[in-house]
Amino acid sequence: MSGLEQQYVQEVFASNWIAPLGPQVDAFEQEFCAVTGAKYALALSSGTAALHLALRLTGVGPGDEVLVSTLTFSASVNPIIYEGGRPIFIDSEQESWNMDPGLLEETLAARARAGKLPKAVVVVHLYGQSANLEPIMAACQRYGVPLIEDAAEALGATYRGKAPGAFGKAGIFSFNGNKIITTSGGGMLVSDDKAFIDHARKLATQARDPAPHYQHSEIGYNYRLSNILAGVGRGQLAVLADRVQARRDNFAYYEEMLGHLPGIQFMPEAPWGRHTRWLTVLTIDPAQFGVDREVVRLALEAENIEARPVWKPMHLQPVFGSYECVGGQVAEAFFRDGLCLPSGSSLTAEERGRVAQIVRQAHK
Ligand SMILES: *Cc1c(COP(=O)(O)O)cnc(C)c1O
Repeated sequence: MSGLEQQYVQEVFASNWIAPLGPQVDAFEQEFCAVTGAKYALALSSGTAALHLALRLTGVGPGDEVLVSTLTFSASVNPIIYEGGRPIFIDSEQESWNMDPGLLEETLAARARAGKLPKAVVVVHLYGQSANLEPIMAACQRYGVPLIEDAAEALGATYRGKAPGAFGKAGIFSFNGNKIITTSGGGMLVSDDKAFIDHARKLATQARDPAPHYQHSEIGYNYRLSNILAGVGRGQLAVLADRVQARRDNFAYYEEMLGHLPGIQFMPEAPWGRHTRWLTVLTIDPAQFGVDREVVRLALEAENIEARPVWKPMHLQPVFGSYECVGGQVAEAFFRDGLCLPSGSSLTAEERGRVAQIVRQAHK
């Protein structure tokens, strides 16, 4: 927390607006639009809820295919299943680790030839870096398939100067406790389409029709963000730039201390934008480094330092194993060799130093 949050939360208590709506929610949504450049925003109880609403509003239904990055967290995929859709996983590219635009284009072309296009594409902006949006958007436009951006990990990043998440038909963000800014739990849905956000707002509020009595013509959800948490979010949003800088400082330090070691490669920063380095991620080639990723992870764990493997690709998950994956070897290699180092915004120089020293000592 920055300290600013308490002032906004104080206002919530002073006004007695303890509800899943209120002036802090309205202000948070407006300020979020200002930060991301999106026209409309809807504050929600989680990023997962935001993605669920986006998929529902793009019309994903039973049996519909949705193309989605395989290298991601399961929350990018679960809402597809909630709606009865079928995920088709797309491999990563080397340049950004995100969805390979060439594979997306090929898959859309093949689906078009077969006469059954997917209902949506969900592109994930992983670990604080935007996917290569221009060719991805061009492919989606060519085939008339709506693009949904999962920018849960990429608030504060840029693609050609603009925020990833604000390019597609809809974008989603997360304020879960581990994200670059947090409301403990929360999310945001953004779009430039007012009708889309208005409808999402209705669905998120139990789909109440505009009538004085309680009337419902469609199935809704209880997905709105609390006015208290929106106050926390406003305080967090005010320090987003500082948080990005702190994360990038962590990265610069690790790169300086470890970048020269044989077999170590950091996740690249693609030329099209700014990587927030939400997490500092590297790969370890055991043939050059002497030991593999797991040995390094366990060496850190032995010192009570938590480091984690890169996301296990969705096509390798037991729960999604029956769905098709286009490619997959690139993401598998990132998973096999990849390690996320401690990357918190409040990491001290001493803590970073200990991490780097243990990684260095593991080198054989
Ligand atoms: C965290 C995360 C989500 C889900 O956000 P929640 O707010 O935790 O529901 C979705 N996608 C990705 C890539 C994430 O990292």
